[in-house]
Amino acid sequence: RAHGEKMPIYEGLEDYKLIEKMGDGAFSNVYKAVERKTGRKVAVKVVRKYELNSSQTGHKHLNANFKKRPRVTEVGPDPICTASREHPQRGSDHAGIDHPGIVKLLGFFESDEHYFLVLELMEGGELFHQIVKLTYFSEALSRHVIVQVAEGIRYLHEERGVVHRDIKPENLLFERIPIVPSKTPMHRPYDEEKEDEGEYRPGIGGGGIGQVKIADFGLSKIVWDEQTMTPCGTVGYTAPEIVKDERYSKSVDMWALGCVLYTLLCGFPPFYDESINVLTEKVARGYYTFLSPWWDDISTSAKDLITHLLCVDPAQRYTIDEFLAHPWIKEAPAPLPTLN
Ligand code: ADP
Ligand code: MG
Repeated sequence: RAHGEKMPIYEGLEDYKLIEKMGDGAFSNVYKAVERKTGRKVAVKVVRKYELNSSQTGHKHLNANFKKRPRVTEVGPDPICTASREHPQRGSDHAGIDHPGIVKLLGFFESDEHYFLVLELMEGGELFHQIVKLTYFSEALSRHVIVQVAEGIRYLHEERGVVHRDIKPENLLFERIPIVPSKTPMHRPYDEEKEDEGEYRPGIGGGGIGQVKIADFGLSKIVWDEQTMTPCGTVGYTAPEIVKDERYSKSVDMWALGCVLYTLLCGFPPFYDESINVLTEKVARGYYTFLSPWWDDISTSAKDLITHLLCVDPAQRYTIDEFLAHPWIKEAPAPLPTLN
C-alpha cells in the first residue's frame, strides 16, 4: 500500500497512532498501529457499528432487513464469546483465550460510531496471499501450516467450547513474513527425503515459516446473514449443513479445515463456481474431486484425510482429535521449528 497514505482519524482511538492499513473488509478496517504510551506495535481492527449502504459495502446480497438494523447487536468486551452459540455466556475474559495458534485480543473499547479491537500484530499477512504467491504448498509445508491451525482449533473446541465458524485462508495469518522456496514447481512430487533434509526448514538466519494463527473472531454475528444463517460471501468454505440451513457446530470448522488443507495442497479450493447457486449446490452435495493432474502426485494419505473432512454428514466428519491422530499428520517428521 502507498507509503504516507493519509490515515483516518477515529474519535476514541487517540491512544493509538495508525501507521498503515493492513486489511479492509465490508465491515471493518484493520490498521497497523503504535500504542502511544508504550510504543508497542499492534493491529487495530475498527468496526463500524452501523451499516452504510450496500453499494459501499459491496455485499449486495445482504437482505434488506439486515441492512436497516444496526449491524452489531451483541458485541461486548468479550467478542470471542459471541462466536459461540453453544456457549453464549458473555463477559468472561477473552484474555483467557490464550493459545499460540490464535491471534490475541489485547484490548477492546468503543465509541459512538465504532468498536475497536486491539490485536496482536501479525506482520506476515494472510495465508491466502502466500498460496497465491507460491501456487501451492508442498505436503511438508502444508502439514506444517495446517497442524498449527488445527492446534488452535483443538484449543477452541476442546478447551474453550468455542466454534470459530469462519476458518479460511484470509483469516489465517503469519506472525512474520514467511520465507519459503520462491516458486514451487508445478507437479512437484512428494519427496519425503527432501522433507527430512530440511528443504522447508530454512529456520537458520532469520528465515522460516514461523507461527500461523487464527484471526477474525467473534464479530461473526455481524458478518452473518441472520436470515439465511450463511456467512456473507464465503460460501466456498462453508460446510454443507450450513448451506442447507441445518444445525451447525464444531464440525463446521472441521469442514473448513478440510477446505483449507485441500487449497494448500493444490492451490485452488475444493468447491468453486462462478455462479453462487451452482457453488451452493456443489457444497450442499459435497461434490468435489481430486482433479488431475494437480492431485496426481499427492499422497493417498493426504487425500484420505481430506475425504474424512469434506464429508457431508457432520456426524461422520472427523473431529479435531481424529484429525490430529490421522497418519498423514501423526507419522510426519517432527514439526518444523518456528521462529523466535
Ligand atoms: P473481517 O471481519 O473484515 O474479515 P478480519 O479480522 O478478518 O476482518 O481482518 C481483515 C484482514 O485484516 C485480515 O484478513 C488480515 O489481512 C488483516 N488483519 C486482521 N487482523 C490482523 C492482525 N492482528 N495483524 C495483521 N493483520 C490483520
Ligand atoms: Mg476475515
